[in-house]
Amino acid sequence: MLNDFTEKVNKITREITNKAHDTIDAAKLNSSINRAKQDIEEAYREIGKIYYENFALEENELFEEPVNRIRENELKVVFLQEQIHQLKGIKVCEVCEKELKQDMSFCPYCGNKMKEEPVEEAEQDAEEQDAEEELEVEDELKVKEEPGAFETETE
Ligand SMILES: [Zn+2]
Repeated sequence: MLNDFTEKVNKITREITNKAHDTIDAAKLNSSINRAKQDIEEAYREIGKIYYENFALEENELFEEPVNRIRENELKVVFLQEQIHQLKGIKVCEVCEKELKQDMSFCPYCGNKMKEEPVEEAEQDAEEQDAEEELEVEDELKVKEEPGAFETETE
């Protein structure tokens, strides 16, 4: 009688322990499954990125839409970041990517010489073009002044 009771208690205890054990194991297994699934998703993303970086330049209709979406969004990000920089009155060092004041000509973190402002570059280009055009005009005048050319016309 006592043995039976003890045995019943032991049996229930074993069952509860087993159930608790099962619950813990199932939770652990489920989270392992979720980690594995996340890893698969991550691997898919990596495959996509590798494809995009290595093969997206080759025309492929299958990937045209998402490839265009990536390119448009990359341009958008550059444009938006530029707006943030202007709002904050900063520019970003191309070498170390630290934020600097817009009037700095050298990066104080890595010593990189900053590019001149785009407006100044545009002005320089315009000046260079003007100089080239002037040289071309001079060459044309020289050709017209050559006596040989004049003589062949008259004969
Ligand atoms: Zn720097």
